Amino acid sequence: MDPAIKDALAWIDDQHRSLVERLVAWSAINSGSHNGAGLKAMGAEVTAAFRVLQADYQEIKTAPGRRVASDGSLEPVAHGPVHLFSKRPRAKRRVLLTGHLDTVFAADHPFQEPKFLDENTLNGPGAADMKGGLLVMLTALQALEKSGLGERLGYDVLVNSDEEIGSHGSAPVLVEMAAKADFGLTFEPALADGTLAGARKGSGNFTLVVRGRAAHAGRDFEHGRNAVTKLAAMIGELDELNEKLDGVTLNAALIEGGSAINVVPDLAICRFNVRVRDDQGAAAVAGELEKLLARHRGRDGISCELHGGFSRPPKPLSAANRRLFEILAGVGAELDLEISWRPTGGCCDGNNLAAAGLPNIDSLGVRGGHIHSQREYALVDSLTERAKLSALMLMKYAAGEFSLEDEEAS
Ligand SMILES: [Zn+2]
Repeated sequence: MDPAIKDALAWIDDQHRSLVERLVAWSAINSGSHNGAGLKAMGAEVTAAFRVLQADYQEIKTAPGRRVASDGSLEPVAHGPVHLFSKRPRAKRRVLLTGHLDTVFAADHPFQEPKFLDENTLNGPGAADMKGGLLVMLTALQALEKSGLGERLGYDVLVNSDEEIGSHGSAPVLVEMAAKADFGLTFEPALADGTLAGARKGSGNFTLVVRGRAAHAGRDFEHGRNAVTKLAAMIGELDELNEKLDGVTLNAALIEGGSAINVVPDLAICRFNVRVRDDQGAAAVAGELEKLLARHRGRDGISCELHGGFSRPPKPLSAANRRLFEILAGVGAELDLEISWRPTGGCCDGNNLAAAGLPNIDSLGVRGGHIHSQREYALVDSLTERAKLSALMLMKYAAGEFSLEDEEAS
């Protein structure tokens, strides 16, 4: 191994203690996707930390989205900004690295404080998903610069604030930056044993709003049209799609409706998530939802409307992605790391990058588990381990040791 590379990797090993300290500090900052102040604080931490790269920096505001409020109306929802760092914008070889600083834990969620379960296991909000990943990314880039090989490689770092709610605001920036890069690296957590995510399912969030007619439950029951019972019937039909459609899961997750126990409810809302393996699955779901609405809509004083859609296209294991994995496995072997991957129902910005035509590996962050729950943990010895993996991959690409172009031409 080239001595400059060896030195840069040894430097990563020396960062263990400071990385762990920073991860604990970052995990303690609440940055739930809807916590504007928390996202600002976390954004300030990240931009200060990434300053060592001496890259061009810009904060990009994102457009607000809309969601269905509890009264069935549409209300605007703000999305946090994208932090973009660009290094050597004129370099021929170019890589896109992405991460997110938001978490699924809102400001009022009980899970706020990181704590060690044992020497190597940090239980904390966002410890694995993906504050640890942001540190892995930064450390890998620092090592790249230290090796001197960075001079031959340009990169963009895209850190968004709305990944956990579907990246609706940052999606246009992801597409724009994907077009400039040769491949992408995203720092979602790997499984505890180090296994990476191969193919990922696509995902869509939907809200079904059913409206009936309110009436007194005793005096005037016949004139009421019960939105809750209608919604309940429709949810049953939605659930049947889990059996009917292969490779599709539909999770009816949140329901709202009714006002008082002696009033026939005139409004009921169900929010559900759909996962699909491929585009055919998404089309089949869309068709079934349309039929469901047609069956129930406008019947006997009941109306219903469906909001939302698929925001993450499926990410199949394409030839280009497979080649990237094989290259990474070779890089891992030099570090005595066995690199394997397997399909998952989870999805992330790697789905968006793939849909934009950019081959990418998206689980290069820390090893960990139980993400999106109070049991979320990161194995902190993987901070330096995974930073070395990405650093060596970047150094090899900078040195011209591999290329994806042959594959594209064939
Ligand atoms: Zn994540």
